[in-house]
Order: sequence, then structure tokens, then C-alpha cells
Amino acid sequence: MRLSAYFLPTLKETPTEAKISSHRLMLRAGMIRQSSAGIYSWLPLGLKVLNKIGEIVREEQDAIGCHEMLMPTIQPADLWRDSGRYDDYGPEMLRIRDRHDRDMLYGPTNEEQITEIFAGSVKSYRDVPQMLYHIQWKFRDEVRPRFGVMRGREFLMKDAYSFDMDFDGARNSYNKMFVAYLKTYERLGLKAIPMAADPGPIGGDMSHEFMILADTGESEIACHKGFVDNDWLETAGDDLQTTVDTFTEKYAATDEKRDTDAEAALGDDLVTARAIEVGHIFYFGKKYSEKLGAIVTDSDGNNITVEMGSYGIGVSRLVGAIIEASHDEAGIIWPDSVAPFRVGLINLKVSDDECVTACDDLYARLTTAGIDTLYDDRDTRAGAKFADMDLIGLPWQLAIGPRGIKNGVIEVKNRKTGERQELSVDDAMNLLGV
Ligand code: ATP
Ligand code: MG
Repeated sequence: MRLSAYFLPTLKETPTEAKISSHRLMLRAGMIRQSSAGIYSWLPLGLKVLNKIGEIVREEQDAIGCHEMLMPTIQPADLWRDSGRYDDYGPEMLRIRDRHDRDMLYGPTNEEQITEIFAGSVKSYRDVPQMLYHIQWKFRDEVRPRFGVMRGREFLMKDAYSFDMDFDGARNSYNKMFVAYLKTYERLGLKAIPMAADPGPIGGDMSHEFMILADTGESEIACHKGFVDNDWLETAGDDLQTTVDTFTEKYAATDEKRDTDAEAALGDDLVTARAIEVGHIFYFGKKYSEKLGAIVTDSDGNNITVEMGSYGIGVSRLVGAIIEASHDEAGIIWPDSVAPFRVGLINLKVSDDECVTACDDLYARLTTAGIDTLYDDRDTRAGAKFADMDLIGLPWQLAIGPRGIKNGVIEVKNRKTGERQELSVDDAMNLLGV
């Protein structure tokens, strides 16, 4: 992509309304613009990252046999009256009336909707277990929308739902999701710690929130220091339950589940910190299936009310969370997997014909090799170009100027390590693995 033809409205000034780094950087890097409190437009660069995160989430859901679908944002209030949640939900729910005076709402989540679909379509144990998900915008009229996309009112969530014949089946679905979540966050370059969370009225131990440590996080957490230092996923076995146990047998808890005795026993191995919730998985049994009639017959012809769980990932929150975990004074440092472009190519002197030719050639070569490149061909100062590249955080910067051309080299910078090298074009291509 030629920057001269792109839409990348970066800001030099630090926006004063933004209180945390990720929010400031997303505004400055031209990724988002606020529409109203907690509601944002995603500009091209921001949308690219959002889509990349969504794609990784999607691949890991597909890999465990969870099927993608798409439910609407607007739901009928009657469905929520049937589950009993219409009145319970309170002012966080955005209520709407259509032209026929029917009560509607902008979905804050989709348990009712998916249960209704399941109940209307699945009648036999032969079609169970089932796992379904969608990636869809949600609306919650949060009391305090803040920190940009971290706590928005409109936000993108992946929400999945599982349906099983019995508790053992439900546990198996839960475990599959648990491990899929660990893999998802790892691919996003994040260390997400699964923490025991409040299981709600059903009780049990099948509720985990996935938290990443960050000083700007809204939750207070405590955990075994091994969660911060070790990679237990690598040592975990093939067996699903064993893998889950590897994590859950060690102490890690969010505010409401903290246990003073367990923490005292950990001694020096205890870490307390602030953290951002990036996902939540939850077994809730027959809470919705009972109320909305999700009943199937088993092999003996008995009616069985199905066991359910729901599994959320904050896709738009993750954009901010990744930046909180990976930035410096100069800007964002994208992990390769979600970087909007892999390479930023800088023409240091657009008035120099030789320079333009060298840059155009390299751009063509990178593009042919399938390397997504943002090519800064604008007629601007070199200093401003470097500053913008640092700000938007692409993993590699390649800069070509008259001096380098004379010496047969280009300048290659690794955004994460800051390391700069002068390399021939061929060596630079090698470094990029082509
Ligand atoms: P929180 O405690 O942060 O309000 P929650 O418990 O209400 O989260 P869930 O209902 O479990 O969240 O939603 C699943 C995921 O959606 C959360 O783990 C979080 O990553 C994301 N999420 C929830 N609320 C918001 C929001 N207002 N803005 C952005 N992402 C959100
Ligand atoms: Mg909430």
C-alpha cells in the first residue's frame, strides 16, 4: 500500500482525553476515531488489526469443531422476557422500540438467541454435542465507558455456546474451549492467565477469566508466580483434562475469588497485580435451556434438557490490550501475527529519481513475495516518516536514501529490538524469510 494513497490520519499531538497508552496510541496512529462516549469508528489501519485478531480467534474456534454463524445485533425483548433477563439486565441494556411499538434491544450477549435457535432445530441426541459461535458487535451502556476500546459501549465480541447431553459432555466442551483460548492468546503474542472466576448461582469450578497483566488493568488479581514465568502450555500433555489441570491446579484468582489462606501458603511464589480481562468461559448448566425449552430425546426416548456453556473473547478490547502489553515511548510494537503490515518501506528522498526507482523496485519485490508492505512514498521529511513508522509499530522498517544507494545498502530496523543494520536488498529479503 502506498501511503500517499492510503488513509492514515496520524496525530502529532497527544490527545488529552486519552488516559492510557493504548487509547492515546490508537488515536495517534489513526486507528480509531470516537463517535460518542464508548463508540468508535475503525479507520483502515485499526480495522486491519481488528480483522487479524478476529481471524486468529476464528481459526482456533474452527479447530475445535465450533461452527461459525452470525446472529443479529437487534433482538426482540420477548425472548429476554422468556428467560427472565429482560428486567434483570438493568440500564446496561439499550432498549429500542420499533414502528409497530414492539420492544427490541441491542444485544449485550446472545444466550437467549442461540438457545432459541438450538431449541427450534435440534430434537435428538444424535445432533448433540454442538458448539456454535459468532463474532458480532455488542452494546452495553456501561456506567463508565473509558480507556478507548477497552471499555466501550459498542464492542466486538466472539461469543461461543456449547450444548451437551450431560455434565461430562459439558466439561469436555469447556476443556476444549479452555485450551483453544490458551492457544489463541499465545498466537496473539499475549500471556493470558486463566483465573478462577465467580461461577454464579450454579457453583462449581467451571468459570475462568483470561487475564493479561497490565498496570492499567481494571481488575486486581493474585496468582502463582509460575503463571508469569513459565510456559505450561508447552509441557502440557495431549490429554485435554490433564492440560486443563496443569493450569487450574495452581492458584490464580480474580478479585471475587481470592483466598487468603491459599495466598499465605504461596509465600514468595505469590504475585499480586492488576490485569485486563480478555476472555471469560463459563458453564451454566440448564439455566437457559430449561426456560427456553432446549430439550432433546436420548437414545431411550427420554427428554433431556441440554447442558450449556458460553465462551467470550473481547476482540475489540484485545486491540487495546495488545498495545498495553507491547509499546514504548515512540509508539506501538505489533506482534507479527496481528501487525497491520509486516514491512514499512521508507523513501528518504522522493525528489531523487534514483531513490524513487530503488524504492519502487523493492516495493514490487516485496509485494510479489507476498509481504504486506506499507510504502511511505510521501513528499515529507525523513524524520517525520521515521516517527510515523515507529508510531504505527510495523515489525520491520526498510529505509532507502541516496547515501545507501551509493553504497549498495538499505537500512533495516527491527521495531521491537530497535536494532538497525545496513544490508544489501538480497540480504534484507533473506532476513524477511524470502
Ligand atoms: P467486564 O468485567 O470487563 O465488564 P464482563 O464480565 O462484563 O467484562 P463478559 O460478559 O464475560 O464480560 O464478556 C466477554 C468478554 O467481552 C470480556 O472478557 C471482555 O474481554 C469483553 N468485554 C466485556 N465488556 C466489554 C466492554 N464494555 N468493552 C470491550 N470489551 C468488553
Ligand atoms: Mg461487564
